[in-house]
Amino acid sequence: MRKINLALLGATGSIGRQTLDIIRKFSDRVNLIGFSVHTNVGAINEIAQEFHASYAVITSDITYRSDDVKILYKKEGLIELITLPEVDTVLVATLGTVGIHPTLRALQLNKRVLLANKETLVAFGDFVKGIKTGTLIPVDSEHSAIFQLLENRREEAEEIVLTASGGPFRTLSYEELEKVSPEDALKHPTWNMGAKITVDSATLMNKGLEVIEAYYLFDFPPEKIKVIIHPQSIIHGMIRLKDNAVLSHMSYPDMRIPIQYALFYPERVSNDALKTIDFFTLGHLDFENPDPYRFPLLPLAYEALKRGMPYPACISAANDIAVFSFLQGNIKFTDIYKTVEFVFNKCDSKANTVEDVEGIIKEAKEYAKEFIKKMG
Ligand code: NDP
Ligand code: MG
Repeated sequence: MRKINLALLGATGSIGRQTLDIIRKFSDRVNLIGFSVHTNVGAINEIAQEFHASYAVITSDITYRSDDVKILYKKEGLIELITLPEVDTVLVATLGTVGIHPTLRALQLNKRVLLANKETLVAFGDFVKGIKTGTLIPVDSEHSAIFQLLENRREEAEEIVLTASGGPFRTLSYEELEKVSPEDALKHPTWNMGAKITVDSATLMNKGLEVIEAYYLFDFPPEKIKVIIHPQSIIHGMIRLKDNAVLSHMSYPDMRIPIQYALFYPERVSNDALKTIDFFTLGHLDFENPDPYRFPLLPLAYEALKRGMPYPACISAANDIAVFSFLQGNIKFTDIYKTVEFVFNKCDSKANTVEDVEGIIKEAKEYAKEFIKKMG
């Protein structure tokens, strides 16, 4: 059996830790060659020792000495790690957009990229799509579901449906949304994830980013990518076929399922830590339409997708800043949308290269910061 030789980018995050959990379970199948951390350098020796990894990349400005691993730094360090001939698979679970560089390079080198970090695909989708080598496998649960459903059926599929839990504020009025706190937003009803994506789930921006992600992964036009609120998060994705038959992908909300699927693709492996659905306890599955008035970031994301590059990069960058400000207690929940909309309206530069988009992201973040300052 072939062993997977993995570089895990963002090893200390929610996805990163769950990936380590899978590697722990299947240590005879996966070698961790190296990994990256951003601020959590204290985890380097612990991870390196347990998994016998040889390289650790620090992407922040922190420096660190270790006798256990070779330490590399920043974007160049990520590239050096994923370029190693022994690395065949790269799992990108960093935050922000630095992940675009190892993603593009790994694909160019014909490696497998398991992509969790949706913000990179949202901002740089055209460049990723342009590379015809390598294999890109989504880790995001909805996209993993659609990826599995579409296998050998792309030609028969008419539209795809992404489900959204609706987040913790699904039933609140606009007036109530104005008063919610970061602590309230971090209480996700079904998924346990990092802080940024948890807030994105509460605004439905996460689903907006996922619509754009789906566009780049599966090549359906925006109007053929539907979103439906499904509070139980049991169905992760559906495809409607030509004859109106609908296929769905179901599991309990547990990211280890799509992580494991991506790691071992195309093989399915059994893992007794993953639970079987008990339909009788569930009783029923519910569906609602997303409300564009209370959750306007979702329609804004569709609009950004229709306009094309660099609009998705602009709204995603503005959202990064706005979510961080909200988590810091500097702006209201409803100001996240106002900030993103402001930056959307300023986004008119042309972008032909990765560097152009990086420049636009920087500019969009500055606009967002200025807008937030003025609001304060
Ligand atoms: P976390 O915040 O839990 O972890 C982020 C990871 O990235 C950590 O290892 C962190 O390092 C590192 N990191 C933070 N900032 C930067 C930066 N500027 N540059 C490089 N690395 C950085 O996030 P999640 O694991 O929740 O999410 C990671 C990605 O996966 C996101 O893009 C998210 O949208 C996506 N995703 C997550 C899901 C989930 O269930 N969590 C589901 C689907 C997609 P350190 O801890 O050392 O600071
Ligand atoms: Mg998702």
